[in-house]
This record gives sequence, C-alpha cells and structure tokens, in this order.
Amino acid sequence: MGILVFFFGTAVGSFLNVLIYRSMRGQDWVRARSVCEHCKKKIPWYENIPLFSYLFLKGKCSKCQAKIGLVHPLVEGMTGILFLWWYFAGFVFFKITAAPLLYVQPAFWLFVAVIFVVIFITDLKYMIIPDWTVALLTIGTLAYRFALLYKGEMQFRDFGFSLLWTFCLVSFFFSLWFFTKGKGFGFGDVKLAIPLGLLLGSWQRILVAIFGSFVIGALVGVFLILIKKKKFGQTLPFGPFLLLSTGLSLVWGYAVWAEYVKILVS
Ligand SMILES: [Zn+2]
Repeated sequence: MGILVFFFGTAVGSFLNVLIYRSMRGQDWVRARSVCEHCKKKIPWYENIPLFSYLFLKGKCSKCQAKIGLVHPLVEGMTGILFLWWYFAGFVFFKITAAPLLYVQPAFWLFVAVIFVVIFITDLKYMIIPDWTVALLTIGTLAYRFALLYKGEMQFRDFGFSLLWTFCLVSFFFSLWFFTKGKGFGFGDVKLAIPLGLLLGSWQRILVAIFGSFVIGALVGVFLILIKKKKFGQTLPFGPFLLLSTGLSLVWGYAVWAEYVKILVS
C-alpha cells in the first residue's frame, strides 16, 4: 500500500511540475499536452512516467538531447515522499486518535503540503510566489478553521487571536519589505505571510517560524557564499526558508518554545 501511495504522489508531483511551468508562462493548464521545453516536440506517455522516465532518459530529451531540468524528478520525488510520509505518519495517526474530522484533517494537511511544494519550487526557480497559490492556501485554511469552529474543536476566542497574530506577522514582513525597499524581501513574502499566519495560529509558533526562517536563511546564505555560488549581498528568495520553518514550527513549534522558556528561567 505504501508503494502505491508513493507512486500516486510522484504522479501528482508530475502534474505539479506542469502546473508550475505553465503558470510561469501563462499557458493553458489543461489543454496543452506535455512538450519538451527545448524542441517543443510532444513527449509520448512512456517517456512521461514520474521519476522512471528521468532515470531511463538519463535526464535528456530523447529527440533533441536537451537536458531536462533536475527540478522535474525533484518535485516528483518530494511529492512522492510527502504522500508516503502523510500516509504513515498522518493517516495512521489520525486513525488512532479518531478525531471528529477524521477525513478532513489529514486531507487538509496534505493539501497544505502540496501547495507548499509548489510555492517552494516556483520561488526557488523563478523568484515568484504565484498569487493563486497564496489565495488557495488562504481560502483553504480559513475554510478549515471555520470547520473546526463549527465542530467546536476551536474556540472563537482562539480564532480571533489567530487573526490578530496573523496581522502582526503580515505587518512584520510588510515593514521588512518597506524598509529594505523590496531588496531581500519581496512583496510576495508579505502576501505569503497571510496564510502562514493563519496556519500557525499562535504567537509562540509564529515567533518560532520567524526565528527559524532567519536561521535557515543565514545558514544557507553562508553555505552558498562558502561554496562560491553566491556573492555577499546577492538576493536569495526568502519564501523557501519561510515555508521550511513554518513546517517545522507546525510540528515542533510548542516544543521549541518550551525549551526556550526553560533556558530563560533557569
Ligand atoms: Zn527536446
């Protein structure tokens, strides 16, 4: 079953690749068939199997020998692993806890994770966070929160506070964008802060996520300078760091905060 879930994930990843690529070119998502980015020749179905085709073709187009971007197998593999992790950790876990929103909860987190993959890759590759991803994530998260409110799984007071903390997070990134004059922080990061704030929901998790994103960003920046891929002062997209630390904070945010408080009072 796990293998099936993994391959289903890679197929979804393959679709995400198409979505990422076409939303960057303003092409029709559904109608156009898969073509080679270089020679524009149609790719037959047997050369379009997630992961395997890339390995089989050794990363080259079979017609013009142009290199196929490593981003394709990367997204496919990431999405496959994501589905597998979700299946074992998420679905099994939620089954045991038998939460009232048995199917909604795991489906929601999978939806969030898939959108994260799309934003991660587009920001990394094109330095752009597409508006539709932010809109979808915001609407999805709000719908999920309303479902929790309706089921009595979340208090209105907590929801109100989560809106307040989201406002603080967005203002924080807005001021970063404003004072750095768009260098270093794009307006895309400001927009992305809206759904991320709603997802994180509490000030502890938001603080851990902000702190984490700067730590990861600094580490990656220093690493890239050391291996001489980037010069000092060159901009990196910030979105991927923000997504990584948000993911980490969603899982371990409270634990990190508890450790931090322990160090403070001791
Ligand atoms: Zn080609």
